[in-house]
Amino acid sequence: MDVAPGVNEALKDFVLPETLGFGAVNAPVMFSAEWRDQQWGRGRLLPYGPIEILPGARALQYAELVFEGLKAYCVGQTQPNLFRPEENFRRLERSAQRLSMPVVPEALFFEGVESVTKACAGFIPSRSGQSLYLRPFLFGTESGYLLRNSHTFRFMVIANPVEAYASGSPSVAIERRDVRAAVGGVGAAKTAANYAASLRGSTAAVTGGHAVALWLDAVSHRYIQELSGMNFFAIIDGELHTPELDTAILPGVTRDSLIKLARRLGYTVHERQMDVEELLAQIASGRCSEIFACGTAAIVMPISALADTDGGVFKPRETNVIASRLRDTLLAIQERRAPDAFGWIRVLS
Ligand SMILES: *Cc1c(COP(=O)(O)O)cnc(C)c1O
Repeated sequence: MDVAPGVNEALKDFVLPETLGFGAVNAPVMFSAEWRDQQWGRGRLLPYGPIEILPGARALQYAELVFEGLKAYCVGQTQPNLFRPEENFRRLERSAQRLSMPVVPEALFFEGVESVTKACAGFIPSRSGQSLYLRPFLFGTESGYLLRNSHTFRFMVIANPVEAYASGSPSVAIERRDVRAAVGGVGAAKTAANYAASLRGSTAAVTGGHAVALWLDAVSHRYIQELSGMNFFAIIDGELHTPELDTAILPGVTRDSLIKLARRLGYTVHERQMDVEELLAQIASGRCSEIFACGTAAIVMPISALADTDGGVFKPRETNVIASRLRDTLLAIQERRAPDAFGWIRVLS
C-alpha cells in the first residue's frame, strides 16, 4: 500500500470534536484503489477530501455503485476491533456480482478497512456505543451512455467517528404506494439504486413526523420487507418473527447476529412471510407486544408505533423491552465486554 503525501499531517492535525452525530465528522484519511485493464492497482491511503470523477461516469448516470457499512470499536481497549467484517466482505462481493461489477479481492477489502481503522485508531471515540463507522464502496468510473458496465472502477473506504445512533423510539410509516424492491431486482444488493427507490417514501415519512418508511412486497403490497435501511422484527406471543429473506430484502449482518443471539438466549425465532394486515391485527389484539428494527448504525431501534396511510396508528403495548435486552447483549460482544462465543470479533493488532 502507498501512503500519499499529506496523510501524516492530516492525522496529526485532526482533533476529535465533542459532538459527533452520525456521519457529521469525517475521519482525516481515506483509502482508494483503482481497477483498469482488468486488474486492481495498488491501494493508497490519502488525506480525506474531494475526488475527481467524470460527469458521465456510470456511477453517477446509472447508479453503478455498491457499498458496505461496518464499525470499528475501541471501548476500554488499546487495540480496535471489527465486528464480523468477513460478512461485509462477502456481501460486497455478492452486491458487486449482482451488478456484474468486478469483485474487490478479500485482501484489498481488508487492506482498505484495516489501514483506515489503524490510521484512525488514536481517535476512535471510546464511550460505550461510540465507534468508527467505516464505509467501503465500489463504483464505475467510465463515462458513456452505452448500457453496459464500466471498464474502470474505484474502490474506496471512508470513515466517520460516530456517536451511539440515538433514535429514541420513533414511529414508522407504512408505505402503501411506492415499492422499494422487487424479487429479481437489486433489493438484496447494498446498492445506491435501492435508496433512490426509497427516497420519496422515506422523505414523506420524515415529513409526516416518523423516522422512516416500512416497505411492502412489490406484487401483493402485503408482505413486510424491511425499513429503508434496517431489517424488521416483531415479538408475537413472546417469540421473534422477521421477514424471511428473498432477493428483495437486504440480508443484514445485524439481523443475522440477532437471530443467532436470540436463539442462544432461549427465544424461538421465525423467519417467514409476514402479512402486514395480520401484524396490525396482532398489535391491536395485544398478541404482538413489541416491534423493532436493526442495522449496523442503530444496532437495534425500538419502534413505538406503525402509522398507516389512512391515519391509523398501531401501538404495541411495549417498547424496547426485548429490543433493549438484545441490543445490550449484542453491544457487549461488539465492545468486547462479553465473551465472543460466536467468533464474531476481529482484533486489529
Ligand atoms: C445496510 C442495510 C441494512 C442493515 O444491514 P446491516 O448489515 O445490519 O447493517 C438493512 N437494510 C438495508 C436496505 C441496508 O442497506
